[in-house]
Amino acid sequence: MGWMLKPVVADILKRAGELRRISRGEALILMRLELHTKEAYALMEAANTLSRIQFAKKGELHFHIGLNVEPCPMDCQFCSLTRKAGIFHHSLEFPEERLVRWARQGEAEGADALNLMTTGGFPFERLLEVGKLLKRKVRVPLVANTRDINHKEGEQLLEAGFVGFYHAVRLGEGKVTPFNPERRMRTIGVLRDVGLLWMNCVEPVGPEHTPEEIVDLMLLAREYGATYSGVMRRINFPGSPMECFGMISELEMARMVAVSRLVMGDVPKAHCTHEPNAVSLITGANLLFPEVGSSPRDGEADTGVGRGRSLAHCSRLFKEMGWNPALPSNCFEKPFGTGRSSVS
Ligand code: SF4
Repeated sequence: MGWMLKPVVADILKRAGELRRISRGEALILMRLELHTKEAYALMEAANTLSRIQFAKKGELHFHIGLNVEPCPMDCQFCSLTRKAGIFHHSLEFPEERLVRWARQGEAEGADALNLMTTGGFPFERLLEVGKLLKRKVRVPLVANTRDINHKEGEQLLEAGFVGFYHAVRLGEGKVTPFNPERRMRTIGVLRDVGLLWMNCVEPVGPEHTPEEIVDLMLLAREYGATYSGVMRRINFPGSPMECFGMISELEMARMVAVSRLVMGDVPKAHCTHEPNAVSLITGANLLFPEVGSSPRDGEADTGVGRGRSLAHCSRLFKEMGWNPALPSNCFEKPFGTGRSSVS
């Protein structure tokens, strides 16, 4: 009958909906579903249903605050904050008053976490100081997004007040970045050992990436128990060396968000998409990142006046798509502040 799904797809979606693990091969079948087919919409529906049940309608707002701008010597090809991009010629750290103002704005407008991002050359000690400062000023969980760390540094982050750490083995790691993927993996082990929540996303996805390399990163997030994963597409800043590859559409990203959601099964506490978009909010995503300060996707030093979306914009998106940002976060122990979070 014309309306029936292909049996192999129907079977995968049924088992994924029952929170049974899907295999690498099955995830690849889902990745290759043509857009605008019954099967692709069924995939998106299955992921959407799973998230709405498991995350109980909560829309998560994790507020990205980029602490500094520098012409970063690491020269990751997808990043606008590099020496080679030639956009930023001087180092700049946002003043403490501005960071506190952003943090308080996040708290006032319902942020569930503050993600403090630094460039590759930012002093680790300074990140600890900023963490301690903001911990005193607001009661919003702090997540660090910085270079690779060792066990001692992980403990220091916890002592400074951080509860989570955003970290990804990026697509093309070691080829379009100078970092060794194994070193990136070791940091994930550190997070688990010291008890920092591991926050993850499969990123930055471009048209040149194969389904296999994308799915392998989805599986990594499941195997190592990420608090959340999801999908971020690469944004080509003007003059990016990756402009020749183009960019994937929000719709293509939404299909991957759905695959990633089914791969994660019962592991995550949330599922993210970036940059903020509406369609992924009906394909399994329930976590958006409003942004201020530096961003590797922007030519503005403060992405709050550039590409970055505001807290109010993201809250509106959630409400339009039937998620409630006012509910408590599912990502952190409740009530927050009464003890150390642990990796599930
Ligand atoms: S992604 Fe991070 S480490 Fe890489 S160039 Fe940009 S700021 Fe530097």
